[in-house]
Amino acid sequence: MNQHTRLDERPIPFIDVAAQRRRLGRAIDDAVARVLAHCQFVQGPEVRALEAELAAFCGVRHAIGCASGTDALLLVLLAWQIGPGDAVICPSFTYHATAEMVALLGATPIIADVLPETFNLDPASCERAVETAKRLGLKPRAIIPVDLFGLSADHDAITAVAAAHGLQVLDDAAQAFGATYKGKKLGVLATATTTSFFPAKPLGCYGDGGAVFTDDDALAARVKSLRLHGEGVDRSEAVRVGITGRLDTIQAAVLIEKLKIFPDEIAARNRVAARYSEALADVATVPRPGNQSTSVWAQYTIRLAPGRRDPLAAALKAEGIPTAIYYTKPLHRQPAYRDFPVADGGVPVSEQLSQEVISLPMHAYLEAPVQDRIIAAVRRSLAG
Ligand SMILES: *Cc1c(COP(=O)(O)O)cnc(C)c1O
Repeated sequence: MNQHTRLDERPIPFIDVAAQRRRLGRAIDDAVARVLAHCQFVQGPEVRALEAELAAFCGVRHAIGCASGTDALLLVLLAWQIGPGDAVICPSFTYHATAEMVALLGATPIIADVLPETFNLDPASCERAVETAKRLGLKPRAIIPVDLFGLSADHDAITAVAAAHGLQVLDDAAQAFGATYKGKKLGVLATATTTSFFPAKPLGCYGDGGAVFTDDDALAARVKSLRLHGEGVDRSEAVRVGITGRLDTIQAAVLIEKLKIFPDEIAARNRVAARYSEALADVATVPRPGNQSTSVWAQYTIRLAPGRRDPLAAALKAEGIPTAIYYTKPLHRQPAYRDFPVADGGVPVSEQLSQEVISLPMHAYLEAPVQDRIIAAVRRSLAG
């Protein structure tokens, strides 16, 4: 950069983790310093304090810190003893970690389609996936809806499908901690909910982390034991085969500070999203959360007519504006997952979305002048 570089020429970050770091300043340094002083790096007091605050935040009985969002999914599936011969329904249009632990445990992910408006699991496709599983001689056990890009899925409709077939619901809220459905925070809408504290998620830590949320006391006890090598009440006894799945104390200390500003950040993300939608609704299909769900805007994702996406990404890149495509390869096209069964009726919406979506820079610290620069560049490119 030279002295003539102006605000409107500076590169724009896709997610500005550093801006949040500047806002938090000494609070994080002090929180980490307290852990360095007491040296309880594993299961220290900050972990218990954070778990209580997370539980209070979403109004759930149990919040259990885990080493990652993926471990959180694994711990719940282990607790339900899901394994070979079992089928678990997952959406195709998601990050592939949603189905990863299902496959790792030897169970079969059945890949279902999503709805075009919300990008979230289609209850009708879910219903067809149950039949697909049975036809293949598998035992349907659970549904994993994902609250994609921060927007809560249609939990009542999914719970109804699960109840009709005696299935568990494990809500993968890795991208959506803090989002609501019919006025309730995610965490209480399924038997178990998991989230991720990966740095780029709406509530991120400074490394890896995650959590399980549940109102089910027995499930909570099993998950707590499983994350501690299957320890029993007598801690010298292994009562089940588990893993090392704990959240680090230092990460808990960071998250306690971040949780204090999280509601304010959710409001800021919603303001950014509203400005984008207002300014772009006439040139692209903009996200519309509807009146049952709220989003924490992990991503702000628009849809364009096929063929328009690559030129837009190139035009924005030339102006120093990053974009991302989630997901160019839905689950059923990933090399590691493409041999798993797809629900009867296929996944045409996931297929179409993978051709049409593009995500714009989104975070709580995106200032209006910078956002205006992005909006103007998008409009210029799409008008041309
Ligand atoms: C990020 C993510 C995960 C995995 O979380 P990690 O903390 O990275 O293990 C799982 N599912 C979805 C939908 C995600 O976006």
